[in-house]
Amino acid sequence: MENYIIQPYAEIVFPVPVEHAFTYKIPERFNEDAVPGVRVLASFGRRKTTGFIVSRKNETDLTEIKEIEDVLDPIPLFTPEVLELAKWIAEYYICGWGEVLKAALPSGIHLDSEKIIRLVDGHPHDLISSLENRAPRQAEIIRRLLAENPIRQSKLLKTMSSGNIYASLKKLKSAGHIRMELELPKPKVSIKHEIFVSVHNNHTSDSLYAEADSIRKRAPKQANCLEVLASSPNQEFSRPELCRLAEINTVVLNTLEQKGFIKFTTKEVVRDYYKETAIEQGIRFDLNKDQASVLSAIIQKIDSNDFSPMLLHGVTGSGKTQVYIEAIYHCMAKNKNAIVLVPEIALTPQMVHRFRSHFGDKVAVFHSRMSPGERYDSWRQTWEGKHHIVIGPRSAIFSPLKNIGLVIIDEEHEPSYKQTDMTPKYNARDVSIIRAYLNKAVVVLGSATPSIETFFNASINKYSHLSMPNRIDNIPMPAIEIVNMKREPKIIGRKEPVIFSKRLREKIDEKLAHGEQIILFQNRRGFATLIKCKDCNYLAKCQNCDISLTFHIHGSRLKCHYCGFSTRAPERCPECGGVDIFMKGVGTQRIEEEINTLFPGVKVLRMDLDTTKGRMAHDRILSKFGSGEYPILLGTQMVAKGLDFPNVTLVGVISADTELLFPDFRAGERTFQLLTQVAGRAGRKNKQGDVIIQTYTPEHPSLQFAKYHDYHSFFKMETSDRRGLGYPPFSRIVNILFRGEDEAAVKKTAEQFAQEIPVKRQFRMLGPAPAALAKIQGNYRWQILFMSLKQNDTGGTSMKNAIKRALNNLKKKHRIHRVTISMDVDPISIL
Ligand code: ADP
Ligand code: ZN
Repeated sequence: MENYIIQPYAEIVFPVPVEHAFTYKIPERFNEDAVPGVRVLASFGRRKTTGFIVSRKNETDLTEIKEIEDVLDPIPLFTPEVLELAKWIAEYYICGWGEVLKAALPSGIHLDSEKIIRLVDGHPHDLISSLENRAPRQAEIIRRLLAENPIRQSKLLKTMSSGNIYASLKKLKSAGHIRMELELPKPKVSIKHEIFVSVHNNHTSDSLYAEADSIRKRAPKQANCLEVLASSPNQEFSRPELCRLAEINTVVLNTLEQKGFIKFTTKEVVRDYYKETAIEQGIRFDLNKDQASVLSAIIQKIDSNDFSPMLLHGVTGSGKTQVYIEAIYHCMAKNKNAIVLVPEIALTPQMVHRFRSHFGDKVAVFHSRMSPGERYDSWRQTWEGKHHIVIGPRSAIFSPLKNIGLVIIDEEHEPSYKQTDMTPKYNARDVSIIRAYLNKAVVVLGSATPSIETFFNASINKYSHLSMPNRIDNIPMPAIEIVNMKREPKIIGRKEPVIFSKRLREKIDEKLAHGEQIILFQNRRGFATLIKCKDCNYLAKCQNCDISLTFHIHGSRLKCHYCGFSTRAPERCPECGGVDIFMKGVGTQRIEEEINTLFPGVKVLRMDLDTTKGRMAHDRILSKFGSGEYPILLGTQMVAKGLDFPNVTLVGVISADTELLFPDFRAGERTFQLLTQVAGRAGRKNKQGDVIIQTYTPEHPSLQFAKYHDYHSFFKMETSDRRGLGYPPFSRIVNILFRGEDEAAVKKTAEQFAQEIPVKRQFRMLGPAPAALAKIQGNYRWQILFMSLKQNDTGGTSMKNAIKRALNNLKKKHRIHRVTISMDVDPISIL
């Protein structure tokens, strides 16, 4: 702490697209609190803005220097090392340093959330009298707190008679009379009770939709709320959650309750999302030969204290997770810490339980369904050193863990590691490599189907290559059968093609008869994905997006899966008035209906975005399936990952063609990965599993290689294709997206940008051109695609420098108005 006194200046970054930091002076009163990693309030340009301190320093050449106005955090949110990491991300992903930190904030903590002061002293009146004479200002603070507890610091400042109260606050804090906390959307202390909302028994999904339609003009908020309820009529929502989903406040709910649409119930809730009654000690199996040799390779690298990236290529069920656990034990024994990244969807209670059963409270879990309070508590405790292991989805890579010895990326090929909807569009897998590098740590990239990039890096020895080609106890890999749907006989009297082939129906019957369980996979939610008029070819499209609408059976709605737009499905064609409207494209709801017809009385659980809106909904579905009461689990890619249910002996893929239809260079890779992952859910213990894949393109190589579990041949074919086309891993891509409501402006900005790119260059520029998804949420989208072959431009430096220069020039020359420019470096999809 003391050494800061001789460093009166702070380097601060703001959430704006600039890479460098700005210097500010630290007033004496903030000397102790203004440490790297905290948020501060400072004037920036003409506004007061929240920024982050990234470092302190002794001197500055600047003559005119502003002071910071407030320190917003009681403890830092980031470690110095993560600040450094963020700087690297800003350079690599072409965005602002402060923008990265803003995105790295534990979610729920808003950039502008404020410090609040809470009185914790049990005898405030005694305290006031004891302070009154010797410290009148402190006494005044306590008196304010008696009137309002807790209180926002800014409000307290305004109501106090004298200006500088920081010294008094600090004294009260160190004496333990008050606490400084961060303002969060939910109260920080555990709420013992919460109100839950459910649909009143008198109402059904249909009646709610009908009411929503009829009151939409008069009472749009009530209509919104009714729609949310109607889409999952059997679900219980916590009151704040429903308010968030429907974007309403509780007044609206009270009205709906008075009108008899909903009812309230009060329930107890706990703050710790994963609180379990009792955790038994986890089993430390004797590792098999493959596991043991992989583990010893990892341990050796941990002990060498060197940066070592490693690929662990192990088939599903080969015991990778068990190896991670043993590697972490070793790490702990060496007093080092570990981060484990898992895809959000694989972060099931099963998974968390497994780590907790070995490491108990040492584990901090981050999960998007936790409340901001829960997440912030874990974050802070991690910073304070209470946790030694962090498990979470991509953002957990920024957690304030120190002394990291091991970083594990489970299912490293997962697209969800890439942030695609916001700047920076970082890939947590690639960021984890850098974080491991900064820590001289081991990073293990685990997968049954490594991404082409990662396997390529292993093949050229940039990464060590570890492999576990067999399942535990040599359980055979599931037998995969491909069914050609072109040959399926049409069912008489039906206009549409069958959904279940004869072969899949037989297999399901067989498994049901044995009391075994079945997972069915279809990567489309809703009922039907295309609604068309037979007479005039009218296609139902979203009014905001250039996307066809999906039909949802509840309340007969058409919904846009991009922007959430929803409307009642028309009974006649809105164009020609024809009544012959047909639906194509099978979604999970349609399959659920078909199961009810084909297998009457068999209970089905459906798991997709529509059934997992509630906080615990996802976990609840899985635990119901685990209990064995439901023979069939049907779902989108949510069912493809990380599930380990020993009684599942059949996996059915309703259509393998949905991914292949995307005109994206990774479509083949995605298909191979998804099929292999979902197939891996079958026959995990003591039983050989069966997998049936239905398709209209049975000869497609991605399917054939998946059928024979032949990753290596798949990799060979895929890399030779990509080498020919100059795609990654042989090149680097940057995709620049221009979007805005005014198409002409979007196009013009894209063209102006392109003009700033030098004519003679070492890389290719494609476009500007409209993106494949040319309009989303009312925004027109144009793109410019840059590709640079690694053999000409190692690291893509000359390409990125040209892009950065062009961006600067563009901003200097033109006022960019109503057009957003976003950079996607190493895009996972170029649609
Ligand atoms: P993966 O992560 O590769 O899918 P897991 O680590 O989940 O594999 O292992 C699959 C199953 O085998 C789990 O149920 C796990 O408890 C069990 N298992 C793992 N290693 C061993 C071992 N050495 N001996 C016995 N069972 C094991
Ligand atoms: Zn839309």
